[in-house]
Amino acid sequence: MSNQKASSNFLSDLYLAALTLFSIAVWVISALNFRSEAIDIGFFVVSAAGILFSPYLRIQLPRTKIHFTVSDILIFYILLIYGSGAAVFIGTLEMLYMSINFRRRGVIKTNKTILVNVTIVAISTYLTASMLNLVFVPEQIIAEETIAGFGGMLIFMAGMQFLGTSLCISLREALRAEKPFGTFWEVWFKYCVNVLVMFIAASLITGLLIKAHTQLNSILFLLAFGVSALVYMTYRRYVDDVRVTSAKAEQAERERAEQAERHVEELQHHIAEQDRIGQALRESKEKFRHAAFHDSLTDLPNRNLFMETLKFALEKSRHDKKFKFAVLFLDINRFKTINDSLGHSMGDRLILHVARRLAGAVRDKDLVARFSGDEFAFILNNVRDVEDAMQFADRIKDKISEPFSLTGKQVFTSFSIGIAMGGAEYEAAEDVLRDADIAMYHAKDGEKDYVVFDQNMHIRAVTLLQLETDLRTAIERDELVMYYQPIINLDSMQLFGFESLIRWNHPTRGLVPPSEFIPVSEQTGFIIPLTLWVLRTSCEQMVKWQRKNPANKNLVVSVNLSGKHFAQKNLVEQIQTILAETGIKPSCVKLELTESAVMENAESVIAMMKQIRDLGIQLSIDDFGTGYSSLSYLHRFPINTLKVDRSFVNTMEDGTENGEIVRTVIALAKTLRLDVIAEGIETIHQLHQLRILGCEYGQGYLFSRPVPAAEAEKLIEDKSRFANTVPHNGLPIPTVEVSNLQLIKQSTH
Ligand code: C2E
Ligand code: MG
Ligand code: MG
Repeated sequence: MSNQKASSNFLSDLYLAALTLFSIAVWVISALNFRSEAIDIGFFVVSAAGILFSPYLRIQLPRTKIHFTVSDILIFYILLIYGSGAAVFIGTLEMLYMSINFRRRGVIKTNKTILVNVTIVAISTYLTASMLNLVFVPEQIIAEETIAGFGGMLIFMAGMQFLGTSLCISLREALRAEKPFGTFWEVWFKYCVNVLVMFIAASLITGLLIKAHTQLNSILFLLAFGVSALVYMTYRRYVDDVRVTSAKAEQAERERAEQAERHVEELQHHIAEQDRIGQALRESKEKFRHAAFHDSLTDLPNRNLFMETLKFALEKSRHDKKFKFAVLFLDINRFKTINDSLGHSMGDRLILHVARRLAGAVRDKDLVARFSGDEFAFILNNVRDVEDAMQFADRIKDKISEPFSLTGKQVFTSFSIGIAMGGAEYEAAEDVLRDADIAMYHAKDGEKDYVVFDQNMHIRAVTLLQLETDLRTAIERDELVMYYQPIINLDSMQLFGFESLIRWNHPTRGLVPPSEFIPVSEQTGFIIPLTLWVLRTSCEQMVKWQRKNPANKNLVVSVNLSGKHFAQKNLVEQIQTILAETGIKPSCVKLELTESAVMENAESVIAMMKQIRDLGIQLSIDDFGTGYSSLSYLHRFPINTLKVDRSFVNTMEDGTENGEIVRTVIALAKTLRLDVIAEGIETIHQLHQLRILGCEYGQGYLFSRPVPAAEAEKLIEDKSRFANTVPHNGLPIPTVEVSNLQLIKQSTH
């Protein structure tokens, strides 16, 4: 490739050298042929004007490559008027001047090009002049007045000049190209044909000028020249305008093209952007889909995915009678305590560890999901019978009973599992899960690792649910009634007050005892409005009785307070409001709390109890002896009274363990300066014993069952009623010496 280039460079250099040599010869011959006698002032004027103006007097025909230059006209004119020698010199000079000028303007780049231009002009002018003189006698033809002869000569001259110039140029281009022959013809046709037109035009104009000059006198010629110059200038202006317009059009076209290109680019960018957004959307859709079906903490399937899978299993069991599956519902025991004591992040960590162990315990075809908090659920596919599910629960037990190591701390957990066998007998997936959930609650209540669901559980659960629903409307429907059981001062055998005990007058079930609905209300939170209602009703009732008769002004009403209230921050204010609104004396109100209620969160409960005491209200510990009272705490509780549980009183016989317990409680109360109320006094014998032991107050069927307000009112009015319970000469009430206190054991009733 580079060889070829080198050789073509060499050839073109050789060609240039040949041209130079030939043109030197031409200049020498021309100098010899120079007809100095023909030279006149006109020669200098025309030559100088032509040479000086030629670089500027070039017109391109619009939308063609054809240029009219003054130089060709000048050469032809000099040739025809002053002979070939003058034409070669003036042509050479003119071309040299024009080329130098163009070089300065940057149109021509190298000196070589200048040399080529100059030599080609010299040679072609010389050849044209030689051929013209060979064929014609120019002076003669000019002098003759035949247009044909003159025209023919002009065209011949133009043709010769064209041939000389075009062949020389084409040859040069061909020598510089890789394929010289092809290039020669290509260049010749492409560029030089235009030049022919130009030469003919220049030649004809020259003819016209010569004719004008010979036929007009000088003044007329100058006038014609002036007009021609004017026409020329106008044309030039027109051409310039056309050029400017076409340049503008081209510019506009270019801008349009660029704009279109920009639009295409923008469009491509837009499409790429759309693609990117589409991709991002697809990815986020995938993420959302994953998030919709997975738990964010453990990445286990969540309830949604579990339910979908469960529905699928149920559907399968309908089509394939052999297919059985089991659903297990797992709840970590005392997770709330772990969470509260170790903090929520530790709680989360524990859940994560449990989740990993559970995930490791299931087979590929099974599913473990996390519901919320500490609840997990499993679907075991293709189990043979309930035994399989139980074995699985055992396996889970082994896995979870290993301690968890949470940032250096060893944490032990236990759990409760409910198992429900799934099959075609179930209508909806939710039902299978519900049954496993019910069984789980049974496991929790019974403190078992797992319990398998049976239909009775469902019936009980439904009844409970119904009760719960009914209870919500019980207050508005006026179905709740307060019963009052008298509390007797065992010393004076006078009425001391009443314990308010709630009853539910159920529209279909009749009178429902509190043991059936208080636990439900505690679970559902309904206990809060319920107790407030009880307190308000009881206080209102007691105020009525007190206002009726001044003798009743110190009667006390006892209201049972559930432990759940201590979770309520505004308990004290609520009680205060009721006191204020009912106008009861605070000292006539007593609140009964069970041991378990005060022992849970003892510190915070003590603080609240103090605030209640500060209101002037009395406090007593109910069912004392059945809970987990710690004696070390007992003296710190701001209480007034201990109520000995009726299970001890009912069965107290001389010398029995329960008799001892009652005796000890009374002695303990005396040491702590507390009153004692014995609950559940049913026999006169029990009453006697309690009086002997120095028990201040008593309550029980012996005096009265809990009764509605109207009946309680009768009890208030009948002042001698309770005194009649014991013989008039009543037994002396001895004082009991307590030397040492015994620990109260948990009741075994
Ligand atoms: P409690 O506070 O220990 O109430 C005493 C219970 O013993 C009452 O049962 C009463 O009828 C019963 N009783 C009284 N004397 C005798 C007796 O001589 N023999 C026997 N066998 N029983 C006797 P009741 O009314 O069924 O209440 C049961 C429990 O329900 C109450 O035990 C109390 O813990 C709860 N309770 C009742 N009303 C309310 C209430 O308004 N609010 C709250 N939080 N709990 C209530
Ligand atoms: Mg009570
Ligand atoms: Mg009680």
